[in-house]
Formats: sequence, structure tokens, C-alpha cells
Amino acid sequence: MSIQSKINEIKSTLPDNVRLVAVSKYHPAEMIKEAYDGGQRVFGESHVQEVLQKVNVLPKDIEWHFIGHLQTNKVKQLLPHVSMIHSVDSLKLIKEIEKQAEKIEKEVNILLQLHVAQEETKFGWTIDEAEDLLASNVLADFPHIHVVGIMCMASNVDNEKQIADEFETARMFFTHAKEVYFKDKPEFRECSMGMSDDYPIAIEHGSTLIRVGSKIFGQRVY
Ligand SMILES: *Cc1c(COP(=O)(O)O)cnc(C)c1O
Repeated sequence: MSIQSKINEIKSTLPDNVRLVAVSKYHPAEMIKEAYDGGQRVFGESHVQEVLQKVNVLPKDIEWHFIGHLQTNKVKQLLPHVSMIHSVDSLKLIKEIEKQAEKIEKEVNILLQLHVAQEETKFGWTIDEAEDLLASNVLADFPHIHVVGIMCMASNVDNEKQIADEFETARMFFTHAKEVYFKDKPEFRECSMGMSDDYPIAIEHGSTLIRVGSKIFGQRVY
């Protein structure tokens, strides 16, 4: 099946309020171009160097979303090229994004990455830490940053109940945060949840942005 038909197949199952981020990390620009020619405009990448190479050779109207762990020392290079950063996991990173965004007079959308999986290695705020962050009101100090929602990854397990519970935990926090901290901010509306193996479950639990890679582009060659 072509890349285009795989994308169309996925899109045909999505509710109207769910957008597809085609995760193109480790895949060559030619494959991205193929998806682009089929109408896909939103792509997700995890490595700054790869973004820098790809933006040079691909159409300028692509909306690049950064989804990987981001080191503060790479923010400056990355920022001009991305419209959304899904993987924001520390206040230090937020401060650096604000600093660099101010320099280039850009406004950037970010998502707070929540740690809801039962896995030690995943990045992100626990629910308690995210609550403290929002309650402190420190985010009001960053005029170039729009916090537009939350992102999470579920545990990489076969247990669908566990996956569903993790997405539900993230969604409940999102709903709570929207009511308490973002009541007058309609832009706070995204739940980035779901990858190739679990996006149907994520959608049942309120995902608005799914990040799908291998189901579109095939296995990654690292
Ligand atoms: C790689 C990656 C994806 C896509 O994973 P697939 O299983 O290939 O769909 C989604 N989200 C994040 C954060 C990733 O790093």
C-alpha cells in the first residue's frame, strides 16, 4: 500500500476533531514528500539535526511538530522551524523556549508532557508536578509561549486496560486544568495521545492529536 493510501485509511477512521501528526523521524525526505503530495501537512520529528536537514529540502508550508526529548542547548536551532513542541517537560526548557522565541519574535505552541506510563525512562511531569506548575501561575510570565494542551505516551504493553487507564488519567488532568487554569483560553484544547499501536484507544479517551509513524512509513531504520 502506498504512503498516501495508508494515511487516507487512518484518516478515514478519525473523528472530525482529531488531527494526524505523521511521525517521519528516521524516514527520508522523499517519503515525507510523498505524504505531502497526498495532502498531509503536519509532520512530527524527534531529533533537532533531522529537522534542520529536512526543512531545507521540503516545502515551506509543512507544519513541523517536535515530539522528542528536547535539550535546552538545541532550542535556539530548532525554534525557527517548528509550530508546536509536544515534549515540554521542564520549567528550565520553558524558560529557554521563551528566551529564544523572544529573540526571534516568534510565538510558539507547546504541550506539557505528562508522565503517566508505568515506565521509569519516560520523560514528563507527573500529574502532581503538573498541578504544582499550573497552580504556581509561573506560565503567565512567558508571553511568547502558548500552552495549548497536554501530551503523553502510554506504557509500551499489550494490556489495553492499562493503556486506556493511562490515557484517561491524562485526559482527566487536561479537563481539570482547562476548568481551573485555562477557563478563558480556548487555545488550551489539545490532547496529544496515541501512536501506531494505541491511537484507537487514545481517541476513545479524548485524543485530539495522534502521532503515527510506523503505521504510515513502515519500520524505522535506526
Ligand atoms: C516515534 C514516536 C511516535 C510514533 O511512533 P509509532 O509507533 O511509529 O507510531 C509517537 N510519539 C513519539 C513521542 C515518538 O517518539
